[in-house]
Amino acid sequence: MAIRHDWTKEEILEIYNKPFMELLYEAATVHRENHDPNTVQVSTLLSIKTGGCPEDCGYCPQAARYHTNLEGNDLMSVNQVKAQALRAKEAGSSRVCMGAAWRNVKDGQEFDEVLEMVRTINKLEMEVCCTLGMLTENQAQRLAEAGLYAYNHNLDSSEEYYKEVISTRGFEDRLKTIDNVRKTNVTVCSGGIIGMGETIEDRAGMLVALSRLNPQPESVPINALVPVEGTPLADQEQVSIWEMVRMVATTRIVMPETQVRLSAGRTQMSREGQAMCFFAGANSIFAGDKLLTTPNPDVNEDMEMFRALGLNPQKPFVKKSQPETVAAEDSKFQNLGEKPKWSRPGHVIERNLEAQKARAKS
Ligand code: SF4
Repeated sequence: MAIRHDWTKEEILEIYNKPFMELLYEAATVHRENHDPNTVQVSTLLSIKTGGCPEDCGYCPQAARYHTNLEGNDLMSVNQVKAQALRAKEAGSSRVCMGAAWRNVKDGQEFDEVLEMVRTINKLEMEVCCTLGMLTENQAQRLAEAGLYAYNHNLDSSEEYYKEVISTRGFEDRLKTIDNVRKTNVTVCSGGIIGMGETIEDRAGMLVALSRLNPQPESVPINALVPVEGTPLADQEQVSIWEMVRMVATTRIVMPETQVRLSAGRTQMSREGQAMCFFAGANSIFAGDKLLTTPNPDVNEDMEMFRALGLNPQKPFVKKSQPETVAAEDSKFQNLGEKPKWSRPGHVIERNLEAQKARAKS
């Protein structure tokens, strides 16, 4: 099936709104044509630096401006990360995704330590992914040299609705970072969140933006919002399983070769609901009892579900060979100490301001 980069919002809406059984059948068919339906890739997400983030993402308990009782921590050590990666490997994960609550990567000691973490995990023969915020091309090249397999940078929502959730950086910055990653041999992981108050048109708009990337992202996480007290989106209603399955199925049809990842919100889903998502084309999950800061099903529960469904965890480097790691001293890319000018739109988002004021009062 040819990959299309010219999907329109109307076409995607038509798919999303199909009678449920037809949608499920079509998505499952596309899935079988492009993937082994009994294999699911398992990633472990590790928060290497938690909380204290200067951004105002309305869904995020790590934003310093909201009062969420989150316990933050400074950057983990390379040894701590290695120990966690080994545990994840033993539990069946083929990928470790390291997340740091930063606006953007800054050259310096902390980034050098992250590069060392990437080298260390790559040597464990696991796929390494990072999500560190906005990134310059030189920084992307340094990560690639260290052996990074994937970089995650979500579009979050449609370009229009993005402005209702985040005011401290623009949608175009997100695209720029993805573009910088694309200039390297690192694969792209980019998706979004449903249940933030967006319309179905916004969900379709996000899929238009993702599917138009050329190449399309190798991995697209679909998150269901986990409302956290203290954040501006704390009172959002949980998305139904039907919406989640529709979103997964539509993503599968629009981006046939991509790995569609069930991400945040799995704790609210029954096993039967998750099975429907796998049937509709989801073929990747995050394992471990925490997703950065929000709860996630226990690894044993996941493996039990895999057994019940006859699913097998995907081995590492099936889709792309293991990147070579260049030692720090042999690096061709230097610490440039760049000070890139990422945008700061600064428009007013009432609910974000209210959450910030509530914190000031407490
Ligand atoms: S989503 Fe990332 S950038 Fe936004 S507030 Fe949370 S940690 Fe910061």
